[in-house]
Formats: sequence, C-alpha cells, structure tokens
Amino acid sequence: MDQHRVMEGVKSFKKNGIRITPQRMAIMEYLATTESHPTADEIFKSLTNKFPNMSNGTVYNNLKCLKKYGFIKELSFGQSSSRYEWKTSFHYHVICTSCGKMRDFNYPELKEVEQFAKIKSGFEVSRHLFEIHGICPDCHNKTQNGEMDDPLLPTFY
Ligand SMILES: [Zn+2]
Ligand SMILES: [Zn+2]
Repeated sequence: MDQHRVMEGVKSFKKNGIRITPQRMAIMEYLATTESHPTADEIFKSLTNKFPNMSNGTVYNNLKCLKKYGFIKELSFGQSSSRYEWKTSFHYHVICTSCGKMRDFNYPELKEVEQFAKIKSGFEVSRHLFEIHGICPDCHNKTQNGEMDDPLLPTFY
C-alpha cells in the first residue's frame, strides 16, 4: 500500500485550501495503489459500488484536479481513452496487445533521441512517446493452455 502517497496528497490539498470529498479521497487511493493505469471509465466502474450516486463527471473533475496539482499523470495514446497513473519517477510502459494491460518498467529516458530529432529536423522538440508492445504472462499462459483457441493477433498502431 502506498498510503503515504495519499497522505502527501491530502496534506497538499489542505495547504491549498481544497476540500477533500470522500470521492476525491477514494479516487486518490485507487490511483495511488493500483498498477493498472486505469481509464476514467474503469475508475468510475470500480467506485460505483462505494458511491452509487457518483457521476462520471465527478470522476473526470477529480482527475482534472489531481492532475492540476501534479499528483497524477494522464497518458494519452492516439484514439483510445486516456489512462491515469500516480505520478512517480520517470518510466516507460509495456503494453499487452491482447488484453491491454499496461505495466511500468524503468529505463533511462531517451533524451538523445530528442536531441537527434531536433538536429535532424530543426524542430523545437517537446517530448517523445515510446512504448513496448507484447503479450503479458497471463495471456501467454492462456494461449499455451489452449484456453484461447482464437488468439487475438497483435495490433500495431
Ligand atoms: Zn494480456
Ligand atoms: Zn506507468
């Protein structure tokens, strides 16, 4: 449990005079303790049991607020919905092309690629996106055990 992350968040919100609603607290706790990089929709679905009256908009507003104060990071990938994660040290992601699971891995940031692109193109480079695609151990085991008789082909985008 990364309860200290949540406590940090709470402290900083108090300092800024921002009210911490039970929903905001729950969203913070969820993101501080999950590895799954959920979408707003996934967060909403997993918290509706606890907060049956909470709307999708509440989740979005809270995510916006948490992002504004630098607690969480929004990850956007092309057309699909943004995913959110607690802001930690720099890392890249490996993504399962079969189930969409996303995991962190630490690797030095590829700053020299940005430098190279800048020199080659004359662009003011602001960022780069880099992610690894593959099949996660769970999906790999399923295919091997014959549970998935029609394995999804990896999608490249
Ligand atoms: Zn998978
Ligand atoms: Zn991550």
